[in-house]
Amino acid sequence: MPEELNPFEIAARQVRDAAEKLGLREDVVEALIQPEKALEVNIPIKMDNGEIRVFKGFRVQHNTARGPAKGGIRFHPNVTLDEVKALALWMTYKCATAGIPYGGGKGGVIVDPKQLSEGELERLSRAYFRAISPIIGPDKDIPAPDVNTNPQIMAWMFDEYSKIVGYNAFGVITAKPLEIGGSEGRVEATGRGVFYVTREAMRVLGIDPKNATAAVQGFGNVGQYSARFLAEELGVKIVAVSDSKGTIYNPDGFDVEDLIKWKLENKTVVTYPKAQEKNDDPKQALYYDVDILIPAALENQITKENVDKISEKVKIISEAANGPTTPEADIALHERGVLVIPDILANAGGVTVSYFEWVQNRMGYYWTLEEVREKLDRILTKAFHEIYELRNEKKVMMREATYMRAIQRVYNAMKLRGWI
Ligand code: NAD
Repeated sequence: MPEELNPFEIAARQVRDAAEKLGLREDVVEALIQPEKALEVNIPIKMDNGEIRVFKGFRVQHNTARGPAKGGIRFHPNVTLDEVKALALWMTYKCATAGIPYGGGKGGVIVDPKQLSEGELERLSRAYFRAISPIIGPDKDIPAPDVNTNPQIMAWMFDEYSKIVGYNAFGVITAKPLEIGGSEGRVEATGRGVFYVTREAMRVLGIDPKNATAAVQGFGNVGQYSARFLAEELGVKIVAVSDSKGTIYNPDGFDVEDLIKWKLENKTVVTYPKAQEKNDDPKQALYYDVDILIPAALENQITKENVDKISEKVKIISEAANGPTTPEADIALHERGVLVIPDILANAGGVTVSYFEWVQNRMGYYWTLEEVREKLDRILTKAFHEIYELRNEKKVMMREATYMRAIQRVYNAMKLRGWI
């Protein structure tokens, strides 16, 4: 049987598995899986050459029992409604995992933004936000960036919405530039969070970071910051890194700062001169003898097909990306004794600092980087240990323990509100 790779089916299975362990009724579980709302929009854009191109986009609100929907917007040629539904579901349980008062949402546009001019990208970003604006708002649904979207795009979207409502609606979107209501520490936040939970995992497993090695698949925002903090603050050696063009390896460890500079200037890591080995396969980064693996690219990277290629040496997998491990690979890794820190915990730093940004926007009072980091550390460290204890107590996988705790919170909110 080929493995199920539809991200929404995978997400639904993750919820079903954990809900079963909680003893929830099947009809109730369906209410924990299906999204509340899914909007599809078709956006005509005038291209620079005068042609009209129609782009398809989505915005999904998965569950708002605990608060307004929250979740990023992805610009990618492979975006599908099922992918956006899965990402929105993961946001519901990610916010519940971090204990922040939001539900889950997600957006996506089918586009390769690298093929657009700056003007085309701005027109598309504004038009997409206009199209979804009836269901968006600081108390309804608060977007943020995801793959291929960034603070500049957030600025255009914030501006478009502010024009519609007639005032500066800072709280409508997060990860804005600092000059227009952004928060200190937002750009680094997801990688910072990956760093905190990986640090705690090393602590409970008794791994000395100074003797530990790590590999990072995907060297964008999240991969770069995860690698940087692990190397700079704990002395972990980053020996393998990949991006969409391929993998580089150096057993002596990379100078992460220098590698980030190279990636920014040259758009890829594969041409980096200080690599000892290069490979065209972006997945090769997953197959070296390292203690820590950080998949920080896209979904379905560790599957039934390649899980056996993952080294026996790997002790921790920190899922920086959303959905990088399929359920069958997850079970295989668990049986081998690998501690998989699931995405909805490992990468919750981004949405948590987005929440901090929204709180600061509503107060009109802004925190220092130290305050942001300290608050984020407290939330994620506490979540990690509570989940690790639940995992040990119930003898389940980290992912199941994470979902059990998060589902209980969403279930309680729905029950109290009389939805179920
Ligand atoms: P990004 O666009 O900044 O970077 C993505 C990186 O992955 C790029 O370096 C790209 O070259 C690389 N890549 C693409 N396909 C690849 C492949 N097949 N193999 C190896 N590398 C590949 O995106 P990002 O914001 O860093 O997001 C990465 C992941 O983290 C996504 O799954 C995203 O949903 C998740 N995430 C991001 C945030 C955030 O705050 N940015 C928060 C939570 C989760």
